[in-house]
Amino acid sequence: MATIERSLIVFKPDAVQRGIIGEILSRFERAGLKIVGVKMLQPSYDHYFHHYENIGKMISRRGQKAFDVTLSMMNEGPVVAFVLEGIEAISLIRKMVGATEPKSALPGTIRGDYAHMSFSHADLNDVGIPNIIHASGDASDAEQEINHWFSESELFSYELTNEKFTQTKKK
Ligand code: ADP
Repeated sequence: MATIERSLIVFKPDAVQRGIIGEILSRFERAGLKIVGVKMLQPSYDHYFHHYENIGKMISRRGQKAFDVTLSMMNEGPVVAFVLEGIEAISLIRKMVGATEPKSALPGTIRGDYAHMSFSHADLNDVGIPNIIHASGDASDAEQEINHWFSESELFSYELTNEKFTQTKKK
């Protein structure tokens, strides 16, 4: 199994509209993750359906209502998608992003530091949970999501100057 992984992250409309992409992205750069793809886009309903249901199986995991309110929330504006690369990047990024419910996300995680919505509040108000960022859950999701959001020609290989320390390999 390769230890250098690629993961998809998407800054959701709440992050874009709050103007906090830069400060959050810097957390990933500081941890030594490499940006290998980036774009701003406003995807269609079908694009999100594929992302959240065909790949993410969200309806069976969270229910139809959670799915519907999440898609409405995602349709509220443009998002910014990144592919990040690094050692065990998928689990590292999930750790940095924190739990789905911001109320439960620990301080120090992105969702814990930048949001506080609870499942109960979202449910009572029929809204999706604005929790800043999407991050691939596992290797299979990451592969499918990257192929869904990015074409081959939109992904790049290059060397970071700090790679000696962040992606150390056998000589
Ligand atoms: P994660 O984004 O942590 O991988 P899921 O894939 O289960 O979590 O859910 C996708 C997104 O849908 C969540 O990040 C959140 O924005 C929204 N969501 C999930 N469950 C609910 C819910 N019960 N009510 C409202 N929004 C939800």
